[in-house]
Amino acid sequence: METWNTLKEIQPRITDLLVKTLEKDRLAHAYLFEGSRGTGKRVVALHLAKSFFCENVNGSDPCLECTNCRRIESGNHPDIHMIEPDGLSIKKHQVDHLQKEFSYRGVESAKKVYIVEHANLMTIGAANSILKFLEEPATLTLAVLLTEQGSNVLPTIHSRSQHLAFSPLSRAVFLDKLVTSGNSSVISSLLASLTTSYDEALQLLEGDWIAQARSVVIQLMEELYARPTQVLFTLQEKWLPLFKEKPQIEIGLDMILLWLRDLLFSKVEKVDSLTYIDQIDLLQQQALTSSQDTISKKMSDVLLAKRHLVANVNPQLLMEKLLLNILEG
Ligand SMILES: [Zn+2]
Repeated sequence: METWNTLKEIQPRITDLLVKTLEKDRLAHAYLFEGSRGTGKRVVALHLAKSFFCENVNGSDPCLECTNCRRIESGNHPDIHMIEPDGLSIKKHQVDHLQKEFSYRGVESAKKVYIVEHANLMTIGAANSILKFLEEPATLTLAVLLTEQGSNVLPTIHSRSQHLAFSPLSRAVFLDKLVTSGNSSVISSLLASLTTSYDEALQLLEGDWIAQARSVVIQLMEELYARPTQVLFTLQEKWLPLFKEKPQIEIGLDMILLWLRDLLFSKVEKVDSLTYIDQIDLLQQQALTSSQDTISKKMSDVLLAKRHLVANVNPQLLMEKLLLNILEG
């Protein structure tokens, strides 16, 4: 289980700051955690919630044993609300619904925590509802807004929350951790490029999914360059059965992005930075026939597909369009 000490390995600066703030009992009402995927935003937010709710908090450290700590650990604390985008955005009615729920249970505890994922997707209405709620004198409310892109967060939210920028983990440290836990260097290298959260890496390692996913991505990328007529067939037969749910598709898109980034590394002979470490020959061969500009354009296509995924575009259409775009590139 996480402690502030273990989190310090992931985010030393932010952990120090939060620990000091907790010790002085001077938490802000709202935090904006900004950082790329896998930098520990969610896990730090949940640990902060433990310190906030724990019945036996010791300095800044939650006991991890009381009812509150255990409920947070198992993801069913009644006074913690996770808000995620409903389609393209986080809408006012989602926040209002929560506030109604909170008001029914007002007596139980005066403390409430909101954790908002993809906070950059809040509508103005939703943001204002949250801000209004933070001003309620009757409740001790903590809002933790998580985002990968702070620049897209509404200015009202920016100005009212404390902004903490999560830095990326050192890849070398994380990679080493994965290999020493018994994972192959090929899979560890991919995992360390996809995430810097150990828990997330463990989830990805469940079953044989990540290894299968990796070979399908390599097959697709090989076909895009060598046998383009095969691509839609492979999509149908191999990709779609494996990448079914949104989080899986998101990882699949990241894996394609990493392949393209490897192509760029191969062009500039930075093979030490490769993710697909056992594919050097194929990468170098493809890199020979692609300019940096076309590779960059293909990377933008993947980023666009990622945005469409958040907006609930049909996964098959999304992938067909992406692969055809990459082929044209
Ligand atoms: Zn506790």
